[in-house]
Amino acid sequence: MLKTKKEKSLLQIFKHYKKKYNLDTRIEFDNEGLICHYSLKIDFIEFGYGKIQELYNTGQLRNRIVGKLKKIFVFCLLHEIKHAIDKNLLIEEAKKIDFLRYNEDRKYHDNCIPEKRADRFARKELRKWGL
Ligand SMILES: [Zn+2]
Repeated sequence: MLKTKKEKSLLQIFKHYKKKYNLDTRIEFDNEGLICHYSLKIDFIEFGYGKIQELYNTGQLRNRIVGKLKKIFVFCLLHEIKHAIDKNLLIEEAKKIDFLRYNEDRKYHDNCIPEKRADRFARKELRKWGL
């Protein structure tokens, strides 16, 4: 299947970190997808553009990152990549997270240590990609 230009550039970024950090992580892009997350159990990034678009449109990302949608997509990708890099650390940290709240309460989610760390990484790495 032919990949879109957007997807090709995101894939290129993903491959850079996959190589750099020697990750086994797999990724799947989903144009309509309403899920955007890293699954620790299967070392897999599910990248749903729909979810990011929704968070962007409703202003829920504004306290974490501002910019055009293209920048936001890369930010979200870098964020998920950081979770994959931190895989071993997350196994321990996950024990302290209340996943019911994590899934329902955006503010709680954004303030969890792994989330803040992933955001920090993403903001810093954006510059490397000229964003
Ligand atoms: Zn996250």
